[in-house]
Amino acid sequence: MEKTLVLIKPDAVSSKQVGKIISVYEENQLTIESIKILIPDDDILSRHYQEHINKDFYPDLIEFMKSGRIIAMVLSSEDAIEKVRRINGKTNPVDAEMGSIRKTFGTNVTMNAVHGSANPIDARREIEIWFN
Ligand code: ATP
Ligand code: MG
Repeated sequence: MEKTLVLIKPDAVSSKQVGKIISVYEENQLTIESIKILIPDDDILSRHYQEHINKDFYPDLIEFMKSGRIIAMVLSSEDAIEKVRRINGKTNPVDAEMGSIRKTFGTNVTMNAVHGSANPIDARREIEIWFN
C-alpha cells in the first residue's frame, strides 16, 4: 500500500465541500489513515512549499493557505500518489479534466480546493511535516 498527503484547502473547507471531496477519494478506494483540521502557520507552510519559495505566486499562496482551516489527511491505496493526482486534476481548475475535484470545486489557480503529493519522496516528506 502506498501513502500520500492530501490537503483540503481553505476555499473548499469554508464553502463546506469537505464531505463531498472526501467521498470522491473513498469512492476511488482510497483509505483515510490519518486526518486532522487546523489553520497552518508560516513554519509548516514554508516547509511544505519549500520548492516554491522563490516563485512570484508564493506570497499569495501562503496568505491563502493561512486564511482559514484546512483538512490534512494521509490516504492510502495501491498507487495512491498517482491516483490522487488524477482525481484532483490539473493545477488550474480551468485546465482540469471534467469530473476532477479541481474542476468541480476549484475557483482559480490559487483557490484550487486540494493538494496531493507529487511523488514518493514528497509524500514521505509531507506526511512527516503534517503528521510528524
Ligand atoms: P499541489 O502541490 O497543490 O497538489 P500541483 O502539484 O498541481 O498542486 P504545484 O506546481 O506544486 O501544483 O503548485 C502548488 C500550488 O501553488 C498549486 O496548487 C497552486 O495553488 C499554487 N500555484 C501553482 N502555480 C501557480 C501560479 N502560476 N499562480 C498562482 N498559484 C499557483
Ligand atoms: Mg505540487
